[in-house]
Amino acid sequence: MKNKPGTIFKKVTLINDVALDSMVHDDHPAIIKKFTDVGIKIFAADFGFAWWKSDENEDYKLMYKSSSTPYEPTRPREGAGNSIARKNKKPFFDSDVKKENYLFNINQYLKSYIIIPIFYNDLIYGSLVLCYKNKHVFSPDELDLATILGNTTAQTITIRHFIEKEYEAIKKAEILKDTKRLLQEEKLKTEFLANATHELRTPVAIIKGNVDLGLLNRGKNPKPVKSILRAIDTETAHLAKILSDLTLITSRKADLKNKLVVEEVDLHVLLAKVIERFKIMAQNKKISLIHPKAKTIKIKGDKTYLEKMLANLIKNSIMYGNIKGHTWITTSVSKKGIEICIEDDGVGIPTEDIPHIFERFYRADKSHKSDGNSTGLGLAIVKWVSEIHGGVVSVKKLPKGSLFKVILPLKIRSRS
Ligand code: ADP
Repeated sequence: MKNKPGTIFKKVTLINDVALDSMVHDDHPAIIKKFTDVGIKIFAADFGFAWWKSDENEDYKLMYKSSSTPYEPTRPREGAGNSIARKNKKPFFDSDVKKENYLFNINQYLKSYIIIPIFYNDLIYGSLVLCYKNKHVFSPDELDLATILGNTTAQTITIRHFIEKEYEAIKKAEILKDTKRLLQEEKLKTEFLANATHELRTPVAIIKGNVDLGLLNRGKNPKPVKSILRAIDTETAHLAKILSDLTLITSRKADLKNKLVVEEVDLHVLLAKVIERFKIMAQNKKISLIHPKAKTIKIKGDKTYLEKMLANLIKNSIMYGNIKGHTWITTSVSKKGIEICIEDDGVGIPTEDIPHIFERFYRADKSHKSDGNSTGLGLAIVKWVSEIHGGVVSVKKLPKGSLFKVILPLKIRSRS
């Protein structure tokens, strides 16, 4: 590039692609990249180069040369213009270099030069050196510009360092989070499989035991055939229930979303139907099912799933209710949405179990044996159905008993 003495050439990119390509020896490509990424522009010189150091303990390295000039990675000589510029934090220049002071054995190129220290907040990153083949009288404007340039370059590098560090930290945190999530998913999957297998094993074992019994010689058979078949029938029904619950709970919400039959449902009619189904079960424990008459509430949703959700909650309130206890079923419409509350004065849920109660197969009462009614999937299904309808379910421990609350949005949209 031709230099016109005394003229400031703006918009000359100090580092260009050709120069970058020629930096085969450079062991700091990241720093060069920063330099080019920020698009450092500088006024023209016949050639230029820069010494950089990325931290205090590192030697300065020559990072740049123009594509037409020789260079070797080197340290700036102490006592030379470079260290003066860095020490004074001011550009150092020589407009008419004497032959004996020629720098860097490139005297054929050099008659004047300016060294611009790159510093910010007292931190010196290095310096830019611009060399001229001819005498070049540096104007006050040029010196000002050189100072600003050094300072801005350093600021930019500082900010980039900071951003990159932050970015690295964020990336690391994200990777850690992802790994933790994957591990947690894997753990849940394994637990789920173990639990599912365990649940299926019990009825299968009972069926097998009864079949073996039935196959014994008639005379030796201690159990009448009818009772054997009844036991098999009960367990087969239980197996079928577990399998159907499992199918539901393991289906992808997105797959089922398309299968939802959304229609207008009268909430009280549906509740009355569910209550009717559990009347006998409640009567057996002398539990009163209380459902005060209320204003008609129409909701849009899948009747079958909504019925399943209400049935599970009401069934639990009876199953974990005390003899002569109560189940209160109330509904209301508020700004939050349609609220359905199922409250009981039964055994209650231990505080430590509350956060896990909606997990698949979780049972608060660990001694609770799998009987025909319990699969440990009931509340997981309640959560699933409320969510697929865009709602939420929560539980509250009461001084005596529990309160389950489902809130469905006023305008129900099925959610994937
Ligand atoms: P299960 O088939 O065992 O009832 P659920 O998912 O419906 O499975 O419930 C999980 C566990 O939550 C139950 O085993 C029980 O310990 C507890 N639970 C659920 N509902 C109630 C309730 N109304 N009162 C007390 N405990 C309850």
